[in-house]
Amino acid sequence: MTPEEIKKREAMVDSMCICKNCPSYSAYGKEDDFISYCLPSRGKSKNLAEHGCICGTCPIYMKKNYVTAYYCTRDIEMKQKTAIVEAAWQGHSVWDHLKGKK
Ligand code: SF4
Ligand code: SF4
Repeated sequence: MTPEEIKKREAMVDSMCICKNCPSYSAYGKEDDFISYCLPSRGKSKNLAEHGCICGTCPIYMKKNYVTAYYCTRDIEMKQKTAIVEAAWQGHSVWDHLKGKK
């Protein structure tokens, strides 16, 4: 994907992303650096904490058949799915596993 294509996709997802209506986003109290945290070109926020996630009602979530949540704190779907498998294999919690990852 070219840089122009990435920018175009980010703009499309930004226009449909509902993160700004979410309690986790609101709790931050100001504009975050970006939204659409589920995009591989974006990923986790440096600022948000978990106070509820509404990704499950987002059109992008449904279109992409996502199953995880909290992309702003736990990273993109593929990384979360990998962490679930790795954590199960190593016998510790998924959340501890995710916290140890960049
Ligand atoms: S799934 Fe979540 S992070 Fe992705 S666009 Fe929708 S609301 Fe934003
Ligand atoms: S990824 Fe989920 S928890 Fe984070 S701001 Fe978006 S809707 Fe809220």
